[in-house]
Amino acid sequence: MSGILVYALHHDGAFNKNSLGAVSEGARLASELGTECHALVLGEAAGLPDELCASLGRFGATKVFRVEGPEGLAQPVVDAMATVIGDGGHEYALFGGGLLGFEIGAGLSARLDAGVCMEVTNVRVDDGRLVAERPILQDSQVSDVHYASGVGVIIGRLNAFEARESGDADAVVEDVAVEFAPHSLRATMVTRGEQRGADVNIEDADILVAGGRGLGKAEGFEALEALAGAMGGAVAATRAVVDAGWYSYSAQIGQTGKTVAPKLYLAAGISGAIQHKVGMQSSENIVAINKDANAPIFEFSDLGIVGDLNKIVPKLTEAVKAKKGG
Ligand SMILES: Cc1cc2nc3c(=O)[nH]c(=O)nc-3n(C[C@H](O)[C@H](O)[C@H](O)COP(=O)(O)OP(=O)(O)OC[C@H]3O[C@@H](n4cnc5c(N)ncnc54)[C@H](O)[C@@H]3O)c2cc1C
Repeated sequence: MSGILVYALHHDGAFNKNSLGAVSEGARLASELGTECHALVLGEAAGLPDELCASLGRFGATKVFRVEGPEGLAQPVVDAMATVIGDGGHEYALFGGGLLGFEIGAGLSARLDAGVCMEVTNVRVDDGRLVAERPILQDSQVSDVHYASGVGVIIGRLNAFEARESGDADAVVEDVAVEFAPHSLRATMVTRGEQRGADVNIEDADILVAGGRGLGKAEGFEALEALAGAMGGAVAATRAVVDAGWYSYSAQIGQTGKTVAPKLYLAAGISGAIQHKVGMQSSENIVAINKDANAPIFEFSDLGIVGDLNKIVPKLTEAVKAKKGG
């Protein structure tokens, strides 16, 4: 058996950053193992043109298995992955994480009686086998997970793997007919969309402006939305404010929310609790505004501004608008 099979989720004619990261990681690992990284895409035929599928070659996939079936649901993907692995003998299945990745990965491991590890933040090659690294004890320790035999299922933490273009070669696209189990077709997609506060998908946004309890009240988010709008970013939040009903759960970052890695994470009125930190610490640049110079968030910020966010955020918004000429 050889090869790594990665599931790539697409929506509206594009693959999400999380999936592209998983393909890039699969390609890196396949090259170290001396094997190939293949991707699997599933959806309505019209939504999966050749160019879109072949474009995964730029992220290192040599072959893309295109399966026609219902999009965005876990069980049909489990059927498709199991079929392709059964035919191709892939040794590992890799997912980028997120709720759908968790569900498919879990279903696939049950189907194939395979070993599974989720919330993986790094994978390395050891003696010709993959070892998944999974943070434990609130990210204070990292455990190594080895796959004893058979297929190994690796489910990343959301956005843990960086999307990297490694060339301009197209992947070979191969159509695969999959017979879906009757139970796999019993759920149907009714609607797909984003909740308020997520006009831009926050997991894919390059700029996030995040607010915490320091905003004082729900209306405090209006100033953050204005700043995010001026910068072309999206708004995120801590659990404290989500629990208080100030902002939508879809925007929560952290241990029990989403994991993000934007180019800029601007935290306003956020103390920097460990449960929040684990969801945003991979951001390229972290800027924090907090009136308390001893707030823990300053310990892992690239730039810290000590002051009242009510004064700083509106001025920042004006400055960004002025700089952009609007
Ligand atoms: C099991 C578990 C899971 C959890 N999961 C998550 C999670 O996923 N995500 C998450 O975020 N939290 C999570 N938490 C909660 C976490 O422990 C913190 O309570 C939470 O992150 C704190 O949110 P906060 O920073 O908004 O509020 P606070 O900790 O209250 O911080 C508010 C900050 O605002 C500053 N401030 C106040 N007024 C101003 C002002 N005018 N200008 C500037 N700064 C000001 C204060 O100095 C303070 O530092 C979890 C907790 C547990 C126990």
